[in-house]
Amino acid sequence: MRIVTATGNVTQLTRFRFVNCFLVREEDGLTLVDTALKAAEQILAVADAPIRRIALTHGHGDHVGSLDELKRRLRDVEVLMPEVDAQIHAGERAKPAGGWPKLETVPDVRLEAGDRVGSLEVVASPGHTPGHVSFLDTRDRTLIGGDVFTSYGGVEVTNHFHLRFPLAAMATEDKAQDLESARALRALEPLVLVVGHGPVVRDPVASMDRAIARAGG
Ligand SMILES: [Zn+2]
Repeated sequence: MRIVTATGNVTQLTRFRFVNCFLVREEDGLTLVDTALKAAEQILAVADAPIRRIALTHGHGDHVGSLDELKRRLRDVEVLMPEVDAQIHAGERAKPAGGWPKLETVPDVRLEAGDRVGSLEVVASPGHTPGHVSFLDTRDRTLIGGDVFTSYGGVEVTNHFHLRFPLAAMATEDKAQDLESARALRALEPLVLVVGHGPVVRDPVASMDRAIARAGG
């Protein structure tokens, strides 16, 4: 597990050199954003305070992959999943593109745009999955952008094939909506951008603009 300090409050954990999750510091402990794959043990070893909440950007397997194991080990942890992706996992709607593993864990909260998760504001960013959300840390405008962008070899929108990380585009359900979400996230003018796949990006707005232009926007 590779550990990188993104901000004073956000630590990026990278599993298998390609999938990120994030520990976000709050007054009452930590929020874990996404869970990577087979990473429960490693995440718990890095956490230096109780994990109170697990918030998910979307329902794909490389983001919910340690959820059941963490829920078994943390018991009281609150699990928050975007509404539409929770519907997909519950079998209330058809499965779109990408990997949707069977989950035992039923989310305690189904997230909607505008909800708050501690210091994080939930921002709608559908397209990669129908319910995909991002999280803006309102303390310092750090954006946890999930799979709307990747940052390997520079920032790219996941609506189109990118050789450095082709999996993200292959798993994107609605490419036009994904690009629309990329614009919406850029409009937040984040000061730091972290994503599901790739390194931390500081002062990301100019590279988000270039990525949107390359993506056809
Ligand atoms: Zn994904």
